[in-house]
Amino acid sequence: MSQVRLNQVTKSFGSVAVIPALDLTIADKEFVVLVGPSGCGKTTTLRMIAGLEQASSGEISIGERDVTSLRPGLRNCSMVFQNYALYPHMTVADNIGYGMKVRGTSKEDIETAVANAARILNLEAYLKRKPSALSGGQRQRVAIGRAIVRQPDVFLFDEPLSNLDAKLRIEMRTEIKLLHRRLQTTIVYVTHDQVEAMTMADRVVVMNQGRIEQAADPITLYESPKNLFVAAFIGAPSMNFIEGRLEQADGNIAFRAEGGVDITVPSDWAARLSTGIGQAVVLGIRPEHTMNTDPLFPNLRVHVADIEPLGPHTLAIGKVGPAAFTAQIHASSRVKPDDTIDVPVDPQKLHFFLKSTGDAFG
Ligand code: ATP
Repeated sequence: MSQVRLNQVTKSFGSVAVIPALDLTIADKEFVVLVGPSGCGKTTTLRMIAGLEQASSGEISIGERDVTSLRPGLRNCSMVFQNYALYPHMTVADNIGYGMKVRGTSKEDIETAVANAARILNLEAYLKRKPSALSGGQRQRVAIGRAIVRQPDVFLFDEPLSNLDAKLRIEMRTEIKLLHRRLQTTIVYVTHDQVEAMTMADRVVVMNQGRIEQAADPITLYESPKNLFVAAFIGAPSMNFIEGRLEQADGNIAFRAEGGVDITVPSDWAARLSTGIGQAVVLGIRPEHTMNTDPLFPNLRVHVADIEPLGPHTLAIGKVGPAAFTAQIHASSRVKPDDTIDVPVDPQKLHFFLKSTGDAFG
């Protein structure tokens, strides 16, 4: 069992409280991704699990063991960093086996472990090469190989793909996911890239200023963000936000805002939104939910400032009233900058947040 548990963990650097009080349980064999903007405390959290940083207070356990004051070497975690720092004068095989050699493992056992890691990572053809003769992705696989041979209870990844180009990043994303399936080990993975988080994780932990905003599986985060922060962070391009008010209209609830926005809220939403009537609320609409044409869907009038053709579809970037708005439109559309278009919005895909708290209704 290699469940990782952080109980009321805090971290301060001098007088600055970077992590105010973190409670997080990562299940045995779970792939959890910590994501959030720069400086929100992701790496600090990972380093506290590894023991590279001491928690200021609280407890950390791995499996049944309280590791709070154990030194890193005794925690049985392997960490893979962004800068994979291989030894340039050593072959791939020696790089992978180096840690075992230092610990005095027998030559035969090292060879077996290195061969096993190389097979898992598709590095068998490269074992005799030096790192300088490898691509960035292959080098990162060697760094992962070094972590594998230790047979850790927990893998910790700190932005391991940041130094790779976009295409390789996508390939390595898949490889790390397959690796997790094969090794069946607990993984805690840090990234600031929400796409990486969404595509890899069993569960994504969205952090902001040392706190957890929401921890959930990727689809729940996307479909039911708990607040404006998560709604804005998850999804690309970002969710659009329009500030307005909820009002009673002919027995229904309507959302009204500047720019002629008047959307009757679906009746199944009414109970959830009734507490917001008369209050300032924020309507959230994802750009990808503006393309289904149904004659019954309400429209939003978008003043288009720019067009971004992406191939499968096009983005129309502009404004609804004073609010910035990006709509996804058909690739075949002939819309130009300075046009005004009416885009249909799917009423089942709307998000409502109370402006004063930022919390979603529901
Ligand atoms: P990034 O995505 O930019 O790597 P992060 O979410 O991983 O960010 P951390 O590296 O955990 O953030 O840093 C959290 C905060 O703690 C930042 O404000 C950072 O400046 C501060 N911090 C981190 N390490 C130290 C340190 N050794 N001394 C002082 N402050 C630190």
